[in-house]
Amino acid sequence: MPHLDTQAVHAGREDLADLGLHAPPLDLSTTYPSRDSRAEAARVDAFASTGARPEGPPVYARLDNPTTARFETALAALEGTDGAVAFASGMAALTACLQVRLAAGLRHVVAVRPLYGCSDHLLTSGLLGTEVTWVDPAGIADAIRPETGLVIVETPANPTLAEVDLRAVAYSCGEVPLLVDNTFATPVLQRPSEQGARIVLHSATKYLGGHGDVMGGVVACDEDFARRLRQIRFTTGGVLHPLAGYLLLRGLATLPVRVRAASASAAELVARLRADPRVGRVHYPKIGGAMIAFEVRDDPHAVIAGVRLITPAVSLGSVDTLIQHPASISHRIVAESDRRSSGVGDRLLRMSVGLENVEDLWNDLDRALAIDRKTSNLTRIPRKI
Ligand SMILES: *Cc1c(COP(=O)(O)O)cnc(C)c1O
Repeated sequence: MPHLDTQAVHAGREDLADLGLHAPPLDLSTTYPSRDSRAEAARVDAFASTGARPEGPPVYARLDNPTTARFETALAALEGTDGAVAFASGMAALTACLQVRLAAGLRHVVAVRPLYGCSDHLLTSGLLGTEVTWVDPAGIADAIRPETGLVIVETPANPTLAEVDLRAVAYSCGEVPLLVDNTFATPVLQRPSEQGARIVLHSATKYLGGHGDVMGGVVACDEDFARRLRQIRFTTGGVLHPLAGYLLLRGLATLPVRVRAASASAAELVARLRADPRVGRVHYPKIGGAMIAFEVRDDPHAVIAGVRLITPAVSLGSVDTLIQHPASISHRIVAESDRRSSGVGDRLLRMSVGLENVEDLWNDLDRALAIDRKTSNLTRIPRKI
């Protein structure tokens, strides 16, 4: 098996040289002409009954797309799973996973906080007809019921970077599939399928795309679950646009170098933040990575307003460094008490470190933290809130 770095560049592209192509073809067709409607009928039947990828042309773009399929093949290779199924966004991907289990009559979910704000909201609101039990990792086994369809964890978690022991969690799940949101770690730092996760979810909008210009989601899993997901995707229509599939495949090629370079800068910034009296707790996971969370002693809004090089924006995983205030934005939709109890305090800032020079990043952060101090008499928020 080639190294992950090699797979990132070549997976999903193995046939290109024989086709006489260098860049993968971008197929924008919505429909696929055929003069043989009996053969087409057979392909529709085969898909409807099994959910397997169609052999031959896809019939219609909601069923399958050859460009997106290249991205799916490549991501499955990187995550070490049988297959992968791509969706229009990370939330569409999570929704499809829940729907697969709902369709099997399994409406209960066990989940560990924190999760990405909208994932938390999807489960808490019960919008899809699911019911959630929130637990600590140690409480998973006791929370499982006969109608439990999924156990959901994120590690490192958004936004606190809290980590869970995947092997221990997978063991607690027993027969219930474990879904791990691997958006923050990426397969470069962690392959949950090797630690017992049956379903690995990504917001491809983040590191997989890597340039802040493509939205997508993807689920890496075994072929049986992939078939159910394809049937849901075909019926509910949350497909990834082929151009997005093209851009995501392109993003994968540089994923290992981007993640490693940004992680090295993040580790350096963590060391400086930890030594800085203006900063309280600094959260950085044991497995490393390019995400940092830290608590400021004064006004977090002043830091967001003060950065000039760093982009003051939600989202993560782009080539540029982004900073945001989870309590105001990414986790706004989570009730205040639930935010607090999962460690998402009002002074917490989340930073996604990009590929800029680390000294330039530190200078910008250092200056923004100094502005905070200067204006702190005006903007100081009470220590206990
Ligand atoms: C952004 C994000 C999502 C949602 O993905 P979208 O592509 O925005 O729909 C899910 N999980 C995590 C960890 C995220 O950061």
